[in-house]
Amino acid sequence: MADRAVNAAPDILVVGGGNAALCAAISARRAGASVLILERAPKPYRGGNSRHTRNFRCMHAGPLGQLTDIYDEGEFFDDLIKVTGGKTDEALARLTIRRSESCYSWMQDNGVRFQPSLSGTLSLSRTNAFFLGGGKALVNAYYRTAAALGVEIVYDARVDHLEFDGRVRRVMATVDEQQITLCPRAVIVASGGFQADIDWLASAWGEAARNFLIRGTPYNRGEVLKDLLGQGIESVGDPTQCHAVAIDGRAPKYDGGIVTRLDCVPFSIVVNNAARRFYDEGEDVWPKRYAIWGRLVAAQPDQVGYAIIDAKSRELFMPSVFPPVTADTIEGLAGKMGLPAETLAKTVSEFNAACQDGPFQPTELDGLSTKGLNPPKTNWARPITEPPFFGYELRPGVTFTYLGLKVDDTAQVQGPDGPVVNLWAAGEIMAGSILGQGYLAGFGMAIGTVFGRLAGEGAADYVR
Ligand SMILES: Cc1cc2nc3c(=O)[nH]c(=O)nc-3n(C[C@H](O)[C@H](O)[C@H](O)COP(=O)(O)OP(=O)(O)OC[C@H]3O[C@@H](n4cnc5c(N)ncnc54)[C@H](O)[C@@H]3O)c2cc1C
Repeated sequence: MADRAVNAAPDILVVGGGNAALCAAISARRAGASVLILERAPKPYRGGNSRHTRNFRCMHAGPLGQLTDIYDEGEFFDDLIKVTGGKTDEALARLTIRRSESCYSWMQDNGVRFQPSLSGTLSLSRTNAFFLGGGKALVNAYYRTAAALGVEIVYDARVDHLEFDGRVRRVMATVDEQQITLCPRAVIVASGGFQADIDWLASAWGEAARNFLIRGTPYNRGEVLKDLLGQGIESVGDPTQCHAVAIDGRAPKYDGGIVTRLDCVPFSIVVNNAARRFYDEGEDVWPKRYAIWGRLVAAQPDQVGYAIIDAKSRELFMPSVFPPVTADTIEGLAGKMGLPAETLAKTVSEFNAACQDGPFQPTELDGLSTKGLNPPKTNWARPITEPPFFGYELRPGVTFTYLGLKVDDTAQVQGPDGPVVNLWAAGEIMAGSILGQGYLAGFGMAIGTVFGRLAGEGAADYVR
């Protein structure tokens, strides 16, 4: 047995300690069940990827708290269809969207505070509610609430295996480096994706994955997901699909968080290490396109890209935490960034020659497009002519993977013979049920909050 006393027979065991787990634990405890959280991370790093977040996407029929105007189900769903290309489960997607509205006050009731939308990042004041103090403050508020309600929380506690005989009978975990066995009456798995397991990523993506950076927690290694899929639990999603964005190439391997993201792409040209452009940098507004750039960069040689801007674009985006490489000439910039100078100068001058006159509107699609260039830049195309010139190295930063567990509209996990009666899932571990591909800013926290609450309520109902 572990040195710390752990209740080996709680009503409900919650696996994980991020947003989805905490929403599930609080909901189940409020419904009267005894709840144990096993969080793999040590206490200072608790909260998984959720501690890196800033906002959640929320439907609302009129102004709601800090959210302005209206964002209705139809518009929210249309936005989702655009980014997923229709690869979603419509019933589960609409359920998430509808229930997101009631999450706003539920979150406040459980300690979360909101702030006005940040400007200069993704222009989201109507659609996304920002957490005061970010995801870290949200996670801390939920831990405080959970503890005050009597939820038992154990850190440095890794769940390794769930044992079934039609339903979950026993759970094996490692706490304080000792193996323990638990017999909860119900289990909610909320242990995230598998992106921190680089070998697993490489088995899906090939060796290129070894050059990927992981934006969030190193503790989401997917062992519970692998264990369940290995036992015939139904899966959804494709192991090669994930949320990946282009981040500053100087970011650490894990946990660099939001400050390593680069929002300069729409105002730049992006080239590969041969100094050639490869995609339309101005395809759509950044909130709807930022999530494709990780994959685009991942497909380039050595999984690297370089965003180049000039002085007139410097103040138009939120910079990363690292200063850009700076030079007075394009050739000088190429030298500092290790790019072939002649080719970069040619790429820039061809781009400049293809730019057209017209009004530039940085916050909306302005149609300021190149002419006769392949690939085109279809918005915000302004010549790169004003020194100093700035460059950022871009690398793919994986946020979370989409391969997950199949759930129904009560968050219950589907086994080979239908729902497993005492097993629920919430958050990234089931998000692939809704996100077949692509991503909409703030939707990860919406899924986790909605399905965490559903899972907590469902499990509490079951053990009652
Ligand atoms: C930098 C960054 C910024 C983001 N910004 C936003 C944003 O603003 N809005 C948004 O909606 N989404 C955002 N996301 C995505 C968002 O973080 C996720 O969608 C969301 O946090 C998922 O919540 P979760 O509870 O499923 O997973 P997590 O919060 O990652 O929690 C998983 C938990 O499981 C634990 N765990 C893993 N394996 C085990 C195990 N074997 N045993 C026990 N515990 C285990 C982990 O330690 C962790 O506590 C961002 C992600 C990153 C990385």
